[in-house]
This record gives sequence, C-alpha cells and structure tokens, in this order.
Amino acid sequence: MSMEIKQRLLPDGKPNKPSRPMKPAYITIHNTDNTSAGATAEAHSRFVLNGSGGAQKSWHFTVDDREVYQHLRDNEQGWHAGDGSGPGNRTSIGVEICMYRDMDQEQAWTNAAWLIVQLAKRHSIPLTKIVPHKHWTGKNCPSRILPRWSEFVEMVQKEMKAMEKPKQPDYVGHWAEASIRRVMDAGIMSGRGNGFAPNEPITRAEMAAVADRILKQMQK
Ligand SMILES: [Zn+2]
Repeated sequence: MSMEIKQRLLPDGKPNKPSRPMKPAYITIHNTDNTSAGATAEAHSRFVLNGSGGAQKSWHFTVDDREVYQHLRDNEQGWHAGDGSGPGNRTSIGVEICMYRDMDQEQAWTNAAWLIVQLAKRHSIPLTKIVPHKHWTGKNCPSRILPRWSEFVEMVQKEMKAMEKPKQPDYVGHWAEASIRRVMDAGIMSGRGNGFAPNEPITRAEMAAVADRILKQMQK
C-alpha cells in the first residue's frame, strides 16, 4: 500500500513546538483519546496549526482511517511524550492515531503501520525502538492499542516484510506470461524495465530485429 502524507508543517518559532533539531531514534505511538465525531487527522492538523489550544503540545504525524497529516519535520523535536526534556521528546517521532466515533479503527491501524514502516526505513529505526507513549512516562497511551500492543507490532512487522519483498517482474500474472517467458528464454526478445514492459508498443525496427532472430534460429 501507499498513502499521500499531507504536510501541514507548523512554522518555526511557534510557542507550541520546541523548535529544536532532532536525530530521530525512536517512534512513539499515541492514541488521540478524542472520541468526538469530528476528531479526524485533518482536525488535529488544524489544532496544531492553530496553536494546540495554547498548550506546549506538538507531535509529528496524525493518522486516521483515510489520511495521514504531518505537523512537524522528522528532524525536529516535539512535545508529545510527556517527559519534558527527556529522551521521549528529544529523540522520538510522535505518531497520533485517531479514535473518533464510527471510524474504521482497523484501517487506521493499518495506515499507521504503513507510516511507521516508512519512518523506520527512512531513519533506520529498529522494531524495538517503536514504543508506546507508556514507555516514557507510564501514561495509559495509546489507550486503544495498548491492550492489543503485540497485535499492533505484528501489523508493523507484516508491513515491513511486504516492503522488503522484491517486486515481481511485470509480466507475472499478465495474460501473455507464458509466451513472454518462452521468447525471453529462446533469446528472441529481451527483458526491459522491471521485467518485460509487456504493454509497451513495438517499432518496425524492433519487429524486424525480432523476426530476424526467429529466421536465424530456424536456419540453425
Ligand atoms: Zn500519548
């Protein structure tokens, strides 16, 4: 899967973010604890941009069942882990997962797993450093995920594996797969791009070269 990350970055110098650089070493998982019907990722993006209700509060991403919003750059600190100038705030990317009424929670978790894997890859963060907010302060957060934490980690692991798996050549499953394999094995046509580019047009010159190879093989 792939999603668009909607960047709505909070400008530097705003009072609800530290404006300090960070080399991310952890990813901290939160639940928003907001069950109101309108508490979407987009609504949280507006909340942060509008000053987080005057609180020293900011995090990097919010995910719901349809969208992903980014509020802080990956390489700057936020105020989300509740540990002041401790390692949670100083070294972790904060990801909030929505839990508003009637949303598709499983889909939100799947989307979050996708985002977490992108971030883990980008910053070489191992699975063991993907932690619940509770890890830093003991707070019951992410409240919805904590009771099923191992299941959530499995979702992340599965997404990681899916990303590592090498992509199949583009002719696998194509209606002409068997023919494509035969002409490539026989040296009549060669591969192109990620496999064969089966739906690309062929020019008269290329057709002549192909026919020439067939003729040569027939004369053997
Ligand atoms: Zn939290």
